[in-house]
Amino acid sequence: MNLIHIKPNDRVFVLTGAGMSAESGIPTFRDTNGLWRNYRVEEVASPDAWRRDPQLVWDFYSMRRTVAAAAQPNPGHRALAALERTLGSRLFLCTQNVDNLHEQAGSRPLHMHGELFKSRCERCQLPFDDTNIYHEVPHCACGGKVRPHICWFGERPFGMDRVLRILEVCTVFIAIGTSGVVEPAASFVGQTQARTFYVGPEEPLNLASFDETFEGKAGELLPTLFDVW
Ligand code: NAD
Repeated sequence: MNLIHIKPNDRVFVLTGAGMSAESGIPTFRDTNGLWRNYRVEEVASPDAWRRDPQLVWDFYSMRRTVAAAAQPNPGHRALAALERTLGSRLFLCTQNVDNLHEQAGSRPLHMHGELFKSRCERCQLPFDDTNIYHEVPHCACGGKVRPHICWFGERPFGMDRVLRILEVCTVFIAIGTSGVVEPAASFVGQTQARTFYVGPEEPLNLASFDETFEGKAGELLPTLFDVW
């Protein structure tokens, strides 16, 4: 079987998407045809939606908190955490996922699309840990409305300066379980000089940009995929 060889001087950038958490029971965006239960994602994950109906937005994220709170990391999450323990700062994990399964497995990812279990006041902007399910829109002591700490459609993802710096210097780029549709993450593979790999059961839209693909589920492939020199 082919492996991803990681040599002593390599710096590894790992990008994960919703497929990473699929085997943990969190549906991907594609699996739901853009619908999470009765919610069309674009209608509840945007600044417009928040202005129009903040309670509907909280209903949606409360539902997602409930789903994610019941999930456990799968062998794919654990394999990436083991790789991070071996490579230390030579591995950078960037996730589009808002669940905390990478952390539960022992990784320290950058959450470019935010975190489901954090909220922030839209006025003072400070994120804080929050597992609450809200039946009414919460308010901060300053009077501002408290919103999910999520990057919505039309907002700038978190940590992009760091992401772009590391894309420039990495020598191995591995995308896992991401359909290559959502920007800016879909363009990362085209912005690096690294050797590039895709891991997932279906071809992503940006397949042509990858040097090599590993077809299969993250939880089945990742535990035996890496050959660290
Ligand atoms: P996507 O839903 O567009 O694509 C999911 C990809 O995962 C598909 O290409 C599919 O083939 C692949 N996949 C399915 N099962 C897999 C498995 N077992 N192993 C590996 N790959 C598998 O997801 P996306 O590209 O991440 O983009 C959609 C957006 O939706 C992202 O912004 C993301 O933040 C958000 N989202 C997040 C979560 C989460 O936090 N867990 C869940 C759904 C959507």
